[in-house]
Amino acid sequence: MVEHDTIAAIATAVGEGGIAIIRVSGPKAIEGVDRIFKAKQPLREAASHTIHYGYIVNPATGEKEEEVLVSLMRGPRSFTAEDVVEINAHGGVIAVARVMDVLLQQDDIRIAEPGEFTKRAFLNGRIDLMQAEAVIDLIRSKSDRAFAVARKQAEGVLSNKIKALRQNVIELLAHIEVNIDYPEHDVEEMTSAYIREQCEKTIVEIEQLLKTASEGKILREGILTAIVGRPNVGKSSLMNTLSQENRAIVTDIPGTTRDVIEQYVTLNGIPLRLLDTAGIRETSDVVEKIGVERSRDAITEADLVLFVLNNNEALQEEDRELLESLQGRSVIVIVNKMDLEAKLNLDEVIPFLNGGSIVKMSMLQQEGLDQLEKAISDMFFEGKLEANDLTYVSNVRHISLLKKAKQSMQDAIEATYTGIPIDVIQIDARLAWEALGEILGDEAGDSLIDQIFSQFCLGK
Ligand code: GDP
Ligand code: ZN
Repeated sequence: MVEHDTIAAIATAVGEGGIAIIRVSGPKAIEGVDRIFKAKQPLREAASHTIHYGYIVNPATGEKEEEVLVSLMRGPRSFTAEDVVEINAHGGVIAVARVMDVLLQQDDIRIAEPGEFTKRAFLNGRIDLMQAEAVIDLIRSKSDRAFAVARKQAEGVLSNKIKALRQNVIELLAHIEVNIDYPEHDVEEMTSAYIREQCEKTIVEIEQLLKTASEGKILREGILTAIVGRPNVGKSSLMNTLSQENRAIVTDIPGTTRDVIEQYVTLNGIPLRLLDTAGIRETSDVVEKIGVERSRDAITEADLVLFVLNNNEALQEEDRELLESLQGRSVIVIVNKMDLEAKLNLDEVIPFLNGGSIVKMSMLQQEGLDQLEKAISDMFFEGKLEANDLTYVSNVRHISLLKKAKQSMQDAIEATYTGIPIDVIQIDARLAWEALGEILGDEAGDSLIDQIFSQFCLGK
């Protein structure tokens, strides 16, 4: 195990919560907490995986600071594989800050960097890099489903699939090795066939993982959904209704612009990242033009476009232009203001639809929301997601490494046809093996590791 110093951080979100946990990890964790913790029995004499009631006492003043519960987990049976002590303090920013203060008065305990606990779990061999990344996803997951996916990954389901792929490649390498060492056996022919077979098998399995990648992206980031339409058709009303009814988790998203408002909502467990694009119109006004361009960008980037029309107005030239610009996109047309007299001729809209659906709504009377939710879930998941085993490759780093491994396998197959010497094929196989290993962190360099763990929030 790697030798480390002792770190501490508040592991729960700071705020109004009932209890806050300070996590301490490292060789001095037990001794360090013992110096400031008064209980029936010192921690150093206590058994692992036990909880103790007592007080945090400021050694400088001798004063009781906080009533606490302290749990003790001796390494390696702990999250970091080191000695871990967790102090459960009564919530409130001040109470927790006071305990931290007393704790950090000691020279041999320092405040942890973001992600440092998880980093230690990785460096100490408790988890692989893919599992560590899943911990980031767990912290950030914005829907129940995304959480479930991340948890599976944290448990190592995906890691096991990558390990199985690596096993294929190792067998291939072993076979090639034998052939290089004993060329007199002249198994050249058989080897080519075997290489192709083994590479094909690996490619098929990589492709299966890559196929889940786009769904994985949706789960992590939400389906990017642009609400578009002329001014006053009811875009903002739709945005507000959706976010009020479904405010399971609403997150502030950095980078929100003045003219494109973003909001996270969850419909039937499907996370949507909603963009309300302010009035899309041809304009000569420079400032407004920026807004229009942003809106057009939003449409281009969107996974799904909700195009809103007003039932009370005939289709206008502007609507036709917009509908045309939406060709080839996933679109749901929303006919709003159904409570008003119908002046819109839907026959004029249908030709633009090519497969997309029309949902009739009245934002005023809060009607049609169920149909909209159904249309969205039908469109994206067609029930497939429910049945899946929730193993998704959702990380760009994993995707690019999987593609790299796949490419090397393809190169190897090609080489068997062109009579390239077998040790060149061996290099291809080795590259695939390394790319897959990098996903798990076996071949990851220090800077990559630092970069990944810097994404964590404090205390994890
Ligand atoms: P936006 O400019 O597209 O964002 O449209 P808004 O959401 O701001 O709505 C424009 C106006 O239409 C507001 O006065 C809304 O109250 C009204 N409105 C929105 N939805 C409905 C509806 O379903 N029926 C009726 N009668 N009025 C609506
Ligand atoms: Zn609006």
